[in-house]
Amino acid sequence: AKRLGLNKVQCFTSNLQTQLEKHLHVEKGLRRALEASQFELLLQPKWSLADCKVIGFEALLRWRSENDGLISPQDFIPVAEKTGLIVPVGEWVLRQTLAYLERWNELGLCQYGIAVNVSPLQLKSGQFVDMLQHLLQEMGIAGEGLEVEITEETLLDGYEEDPRVQRDLSRIRELGVKIAIDDFGTGYSSLRYLRQFPADIVKIDKSFVSADQEDLVEPEICRAVVTMAESLGMEVIAEGIETQQQRQQLMDLGCRVGQGYLVSPPVSFDEATRLLLVPAPD
Ligand code: C2E
Ligand code: CA
Ligand code: CA
Ligand code: CA
Repeated sequence: AKRLGLNKVQCFTSNLQTQLEKHLHVEKGLRRALEASQFELLLQPKWSLADCKVIGFEALLRWRSENDGLISPQDFIPVAEKTGLIVPVGEWVLRQTLAYLERWNELGLCQYGIAVNVSPLQLKSGQFVDMLQHLLQEMGIAGEGLEVEITEETLLDGYEEDPRVQRDLSRIRELGVKIAIDDFGTGYSSLRYLRQFPADIVKIDKSFVSADQEDLVEPEICRAVVTMAESLGMEVIAEGIETQQQRQQLMDLGCRVGQGYLVSPPVSFDEATRLLLVPAPD
């Protein structure tokens, strides 16, 4: 039994070691990525459920690493958060987004907005709103073109731990920037919490929408979110729509805006611009 225990300990430490090595490897890579501009910001369309017309976008980050190819945000955002690198990475994301909006303004496509994902650690750094305000001014862009997506979990934690979060959210809205609650329904909050958050948009998490089936995974939850949001005057976006059935069922529940592979995966800026310039065939 003792030998087994020792094995377990060895196994545990070697696991820890590989984790640590992986972490250091990713951290080094991230620093290099910032210097060598290996990040790419893709855009995924948000569209009207009724006619699939594109009405805006969400910015989704990608890292093209020399050695490891395309790395998903899920694999590097946690490291970026632990090391504080999320602050410069987040600034890069914001600058890139505003540069896209600037380009669209030049092309006369100013009615399309872009949503950026903001991590809890960016908010907790206490510098996010100042940076946001500064960049909007510097680039001469109206806040109205921008949305920030903050997860339900972040909002809940922030409210309980840190009164600054509430102040920051108000300041964000004073800049004309909309706030969307991301991944709604996945946290431990109840629907009642929606009322407390100063948000404009609620995003129904994709786990309630799609899985390996044609139909909505959780129609009742989707319905409850739509009803509640509506009564609070908030917009609803359903993410992860993959099938026509899901689109139809969401429409039947009163949801009007969606996102998902059914219409488009995240695409490059050029591709997104083409989508806006060339109307899709009916
Ligand atoms: P999220 O904000 O919930 O983004 C939605 C994710 O679902 C994206 O994954 C998107 O590519 C994927 N998706 C879109 N349509 C469908 C669909 O129809 N079916 C399925 N199964 N998935 C779909 P992605 O791009 O890998 O991003 C993962 C997460 O990484 C994001 O989740 C977000 O939390 C985080 N993230 C992405 N970009 C950034 C960023 O710039 N900053 C921060 N802090 N986090 C980011
Ligand atoms: Ca999001
Ligand atoms: Ca989400
Ligand atoms: Ca998510």
